[in-house]
This record gives sequence, structure tokens and C-alpha cells, in this order.
Amino acid sequence: MTSSTFGTFFLPGPTEVRPEILAAMQRPMISHRSAAFEALYAHCDEGLRRAFRTTRPVFISSSSATGLMEAAIRNAPAGPVLSLVNGAFSARFADIARACGRTVHALEVTYGEIVPLEIVEHELRNQRFAAVTAAHSETSTGAAQDVQAIAELAHANGANSLIDSVSGLGGIPVETDAWGFDFVLTGSQKALALPPGLAFCCVSDRYLASAADAPARGRYFDIAEFAKYAAKHQTPNTPAVSLFYALEAQMASIGPSGIECRWARHAAMASAVHAWVEHQRPNGRLAGILAPAGARSATVTVVKTATGVDARAIVDAVAKRGFTVGTGYGKLAATSFRIGHMGDHTVETVSRLLDVLGEVLAGF
Ligand SMILES: *Cc1c(COP(=O)(O)O)cnc(C)c1O
Repeated sequence: MTSSTFGTFFLPGPTEVRPEILAAMQRPMISHRSAAFEALYAHCDEGLRRAFRTTRPVFISSSSATGLMEAAIRNAPAGPVLSLVNGAFSARFADIARACGRTVHALEVTYGEIVPLEIVEHELRNQRFAAVTAAHSETSTGAAQDVQAIAELAHANGANSLIDSVSGLGGIPVETDAWGFDFVLTGSQKALALPPGLAFCCVSDRYLASAADAPARGRYFDIAEFAKYAAKHQTPNTPAVSLFYALEAQMASIGPSGIECRWARHAAMASAVHAWVEHQRPNGRLAGILAPAGARSATVTVVKTATGVDARAIVDAVAKRGFTVGTGYGKLAATSFRIGHMGDHTVETVSRLLDVLGEVLAGF
């Protein structure tokens, strides 16, 4: 693949990876206990701190993001968990908490919606929770929640805020320090446009302090261990070294002021997609966007098809023209498709996809 062919793959994860980043992985192995690795780690950490908007270390896990969702729960203080559920990934967070033996109170709303803050506040005042889980950008529905407000409510009521920003961070604003998250995590393969296989998290000082006392935090996702090794620019176990090469290259390309440009580019891509859907609606093939206006993630859009228009056939027809979009998640497969307009995509690459989608829709 050459640079000129970038711009055809629009899954909401994994996202398309630039050839330069893939090429960066073709370097020889080094020992993860060497000075060379420590330098590599330091570059990655420095870039990730900028992406997370934090002065604290960002821990790098060789796992998918789900691993760090489990870490968030396992290392949290003892007690029940309040889970905000508005789609498949936020439901997974609640499931993980249950699987780790927590008592979970799930605040579930219709998929596509966001959980009203008044209800969150009411629940937090009613009962004491150790932690609140929420998805920033719910990739299954395209809805974005006000995680700053959720974290503030959690804090005000003595609970830790555990935030899944897997399809958010790197595409939509995340202010780890300013918003006071106790645990915020993302994965390599979404808005950061890296290959799958790494996950990143940043924790608050108070979360870290209590993690050391969490009785059943296991070993692979022991946050106290991550912190210990991160201090010497290492990881507790053998890391996916090749993916660190890709991460280093991507962080260098984002640069010191690049994260705000990324947010602006994602906002522009989302506007282009939203406008296109509105423009298409009178043609009768599309019913609109699943997430309500004002609560849409700038990284992913779930487009509902009109009655009688099979969304899976649209995904297939687009594939025949060399473009990839996502099918609707789970029960939404027949009635919606998902466009991942995130990572290193641009308004230009998204516009090319929308042109192809428009041609495909005209044939339905
Ligand atoms: C993709 C995704 C996950 C799961 O990430 P994996 O890397 O597949 O484990 C979790 N939450 C959200 C919001 C996601 O988009």
C-alpha cells in the first residue's frame, strides 16, 4: 500500500493506519530491559501525556482496551459500582465489573441516547458507590457523553470516575487533569490510528494510592506494578515492542500542538458526515442519525436506513467499490451502518467515501 491509497477504510475500529506508521514497525527487536527500550518508552510516554492532557505518566498495556477496562475495576476501591449504560461498550464495562465480583447498579437508557446527568446525580446521592463507569464516545451508537460533568458528580459524591474514552481520546477533547478523571483509558486502534494491540490509561493520585490496597487486583493488570515500572520507563512484562515503534512514530507526527488540530479535524469530519446525511434524507433511503443532535461523537456516526432498506446490503455494495464501513452493532445490523471518521482520516478522505455512499444509495 502506498500513501496515495490511504483513505478507504472507515471502520469505527480498527481504523486505517498510515503506511509510514506501519513501516515504523519493521525494526529489529530490542530487549525491553535495555536503555534503547527506555528511550523508546520515554518518547511514547511524552507523546501520550500530550494526547491525554496530563502531567502524570500514561501507562502502556500490551493488551486490547478491554484489558484496561478490567484493570479500572480490579484496582478500584472496594464497593458497589454505578454503571452508565447506553450501548454495547458501556454495557461491557458493567459486565466486567460484575465478572470481577462487584455489585453493579446499571443506569440503562435506550441505546443511542445519553444518560441524563440529573439521574446520575440522583443515584449517587441515594447510595454510596466506589466508582462510576461511563463510555465517553459509545462506539456502538455514536453518542458522546459529558464525561467532565460525570466525573464532577462522581467526585462530589465520593466515587471514582472510570472513563472509557476508547473511541474518544485523540479525536474529541479529553482533559485528563483538568476534568479530574480517576481512570481514563483508550486503545491504540481507534482515534489514535495505530494498529490494535496496545491500550493506554492515566490514573489520579488518589486512585493510585488506593490501587495498592485493592485485594484482588490480579497481576497482569496491576496498576501499582504499571506505576512502578513506568517510573523507570519500562513495563512489568514483555511489551509488544513493534507496536511501541508505531506508537513512537505516531506521537512524533502528532507533535506538541497537534492534539488540538486533531480535535478540530474530527469536528470538521463529523460536520461533513452530518450534513451529508441531512442532504440524503429527502431521497428516502436514509432515516437519519441514531444519536441525538448535541450528543454526537465526532469520531463515529451511526446512520439509520429507511424502512425496507437493508443496511447490510449498503455495506456490501460499498465494499465492492473498495471502501469499508462498519455494519450496525448487534441488533442494529439490519437497520444502520457505522462510519468511523476518526484517526488519520481527513475531510477529504471522508468526502470521497460519502461520494461513493451516495452513488450506492442511488441504486437502492
Ligand atoms: C473498541 C472499544 C472498546 C473495546 O476495545 P478493545 O480494544 O476491542 O478491547 C471498548 N470501548 C469502546 C468505547 C470501544 O470503542
